[in-house]
Amino acid sequence: LSSDYPVEVDLPAPKELKPAYDVVIIGGGGHGLATAYYLAKYHGVSNVAVLEKSYLGGGNTARNTAVIRSNYLTSEGVRFYAESVRMFKELSNEFDFNIMYSERGQLTLAHTDATVRAFRQRAEVNKHFGGRTEMIDRQQIRELVPCLNLDPGHLPVLAGLWHIDGATARHDAVAWGYAKQAAKRGVEIHQLTEVQDFIVEHGKVTAVQTNRGTVRCGCVVQAVAGASSLLMNKLNIKAPIHTYPLQAMVTQPFKPFLDPLVSSSALHCYVQQTSRGEIVFGGGSDPYPLYNTRSTLDLKESLLAHAIEMFPFMAGAKLMRQWAGSTDMTPDYSPIMGHSPLDNYYLDAGWGTWGFKATPICGWTMAELVATGKTPALIKPFALERFSTFRQVNEMGATAASH
Ligand code: FAD
Repeated sequence: LSSDYPVEVDLPAPKELKPAYDVVIIGGGGHGLATAYYLAKYHGVSNVAVLEKSYLGGGNTARNTAVIRSNYLTSEGVRFYAESVRMFKELSNEFDFNIMYSERGQLTLAHTDATVRAFRQRAEVNKHFGGRTEMIDRQQIRELVPCLNLDPGHLPVLAGLWHIDGATARHDAVAWGYAKQAAKRGVEIHQLTEVQDFIVEHGKVTAVQTNRGTVRCGCVVQAVAGASSLLMNKLNIKAPIHTYPLQAMVTQPFKPFLDPLVSSSALHCYVQQTSRGEIVFGGGSDPYPLYNTRSTLDLKESLLAHAIEMFPFMAGAKLMRQWAGSTDMTPDYSPIMGHSPLDNYYLDAGWGTWGFKATPICGWTMAELVATGKTPALIKPFALERFSTFRQVNEMGATAASH
């Protein structure tokens, strides 16, 4: 980042909460802000309040490692994420604000025959639905990432899945861009405003109760990531979401040496270099459910051991920061989007470790759902009912440590 890159966004001064809004969006992360923006810009619905208990984009939107990709396993997943990647590419123009979108490709490593088979399937599904993904061999991997160790101890690299559309973007800028453009169109963004309970009458949420008073609402969109199950419990909405901490860490800056994003699910590790030169390391969620965002020594040791197997010369690097977010995991590693059992309460939940890349398409589809009452085709497969009708969209093999 250049030193003159804006570190905050100008928003209108905070106002008093109005007694009622047409739409109340709970959660001022990327998803909630994107929904507000598309509602105001494309559906003319601007009597909207985004209620954020903390600060703008300070949840998982600020904590993620910014991997954007569409090389998923199922046709439903690939279609959905490919559309999001397409929207991401246009976002700086849409906002007239640089989100620092950087297309550098994502390389996922296969260390076993079973993974090679699964990658072949992913490459074919991807190509079929318009993604740019192909299998590559060891020599091609060597040319792409010369400093990668292809023979880490017990798990030599056999092949790779090369996804040319893999990218990153400045995550805060995505939240700021949506916030600024939504506010310009009349959306009210209220920080330090926590939704604590609901008033439900005749199967509808008629008001939300906040630390700043009660607000009546025409409908509600829930976009609170790690806190999803807490709010759903208050409304007695049953969903198989469990919240786990997910950690990441970053080193001191180095001169550029690593262009693609590199990940290995067998080593539970992914590595990328930021535009500032820092090396970001991420892996899988902590192995126990917890509503907490603390970092642990245990994770640091296990993750870095694997990172050093991939890039041995990093053994001397100094870590600058380690942090965590709260991830709302589902059993099939796909989101829960759409209607809830309550008439006017819409869900954008179950985003686990993979939801940053979906920010634009979530905002777009949730706005369409709220404005028209009809579920867009792209998100129909992600309905809550899939868990009772046995229609899960299993993306575990394509998500895991790759995010
Ligand atoms: P958030 O950004 O978390 O926003 C939800 C907001 O709701 C928060 O600001 C919170 O304060 C607020 N809130 C909660 N409860 C209430 C309440 N009661 N009242 C009012 N406000 C409330 N995804 C990727 O695609 N690629 C990645 O590389 C990637 N890496 C990740 C790495 C880490 C370490 C983590 C933690 C996550 C990662 N993810 C990644 C997942 C991604 O960050 C999330 O899925 C995504 O940011 C969710 O966006 P959101 O807007 O729904 O949630």
